[in-house]
Amino acid sequence: MQRVMPDRAAKADARFFDPIEAASPDEVRQIQNERLRSQLAYLKEHSTFYQKRFAAAGIDWDDIGSVEDLARVPFTVKQDLRDSLAASPPFGEHLAADPADLIQMQASSGTTGSPAYVGLTERDVQVWTEASARSLFACGIRAGNKVLHGLSLSKGFVGGLPVFQAIQYMGALDLPIGADGGVDRLLVACRDLRPEVIFATPNFLLYLGQIAEATIGIPANQLGVSRLVVGGEPGGGIPAIREQLESIWGAKVTENMGGTDLGVMYWAECEHQRGMHMVAPDFILAELIDPETGEVIPFTPGTSGELVYTGLVREASPVLRFRSGDHVEVVDDSCPCGRTGPMIRCVGRTDDMLIVRGVNLFPSAVQEIVGELLPAASGVMRVLADFEGHSTQSNLKILVERGEERGEEGDPALKEEVERRVRNRLSVKTDVQIVPFGSFERPGARKVSLTLRNPPDLGTPHGN
Ligand SMILES: [Zn+2]
Repeated sequence: MQRVMPDRAAKADARFFDPIEAASPDEVRQIQNERLRSQLAYLKEHSTFYQKRFAAAGIDWDDIGSVEDLARVPFTVKQDLRDSLAASPPFGEHLAADPADLIQMQASSGTTGSPAYVGLTERDVQVWTEASARSLFACGIRAGNKVLHGLSLSKGFVGGLPVFQAIQYMGALDLPIGADGGVDRLLVACRDLRPEVIFATPNFLLYLGQIAEATIGIPANQLGVSRLVVGGEPGGGIPAIREQLESIWGAKVTENMGGTDLGVMYWAECEHQRGMHMVAPDFILAELIDPETGEVIPFTPGTSGELVYTGLVREASPVLRFRSGDHVEVVDDSCPCGRTGPMIRCVGRTDDMLIVRGVNLFPSAVQEIVGELLPAASGVMRVLADFEGHSTQSNLKILVERGEERGEEGDPALKEEVERRVRNRLSVKTDVQIVPFGSFERPGARKVSLTLRNPPDLGTPHGN
């Protein structure tokens, strides 16, 4: 395959990787309508999965001519894709390309059982790479940068090879150590290769920064890293985590977001750090919906909801109105960088959401509060959801690690402070237990869940 790389010189002083990022909403919508029509024509011919679904819902393909009409098409949920994969392995009934045309495959971790496999044609790879490059450019990566790869490089995860491809495509140098290479190797690479940028999950970067001096004898803020690009989990948008990261590394933090089903990254934050811009509206149509009613909500600052995606130019594994499970709030709609369209922060995933006496709560919101209580707390916490499902009528149990240098005598005050702040800020009553520093796994190659379903074995009871 001939690899076409963008013109480095032209991109060096560019404000955006592609002009579409700053196009007017009308222009964007016109492109989306045109591409939606051709994508639907493609699915009508090639997708058994959507042929069946349209027939079952009594929808005539020709009735869907615009983004507005799309609201009549039923959502595709993760279980639909799992069923499709099981019915026609390995790429599912929703595979709409000739299997012989696939040149790449990726896998999602899959919360239960087998991973979900996604196929890509040459055109799909080009689109993924372009969208990811736009995201990384917005996040501050430029041709000539050395980027330490701190996301997992194995298992077919999109944080691995596809990120490598995008960094190389931009004319930057990916240092492919990977989170699975281990913290020692990553820090040694940092010392020897002096990357300007590290790309990793925020909690993992926090941990790396904290152990840098003990591991390689150099504090993180003297390693010459100027930019931390974070993704893979919502922490990068949490102010307390961001401030901690910036101070430990002496570097600016920008975050991005995407997924395995539609691409790698397509939301990205610029240097103004106000929230993530949609940088690929010509490839992916994003809708915001009320997760309870399924109704479409306009992207107005102050609103929140779940993101739903439609691939506009996808060949191999196309999806229509796919419920991402990502809950976001719309924070703004204008930015000095000139990018247009809504700006968002991710507040959590549908799967993580708990309902405590009728109040919706994401564990990441509790983590944000605990992160403000350093050094009395270590910043590490877990929600103990020892009930069936996602809803409880009891006080929510939270385990909070004591700060590294702190003794048990401070536990009652810390407990009270966490309970008070969570009650005031999130309207949820909690029972906080203070546990010793180091009780919980630090983030690494594996994504760490903030929710425990069973009480952890902490040896002798501590705290309250
Ligand atoms: Zn911006």
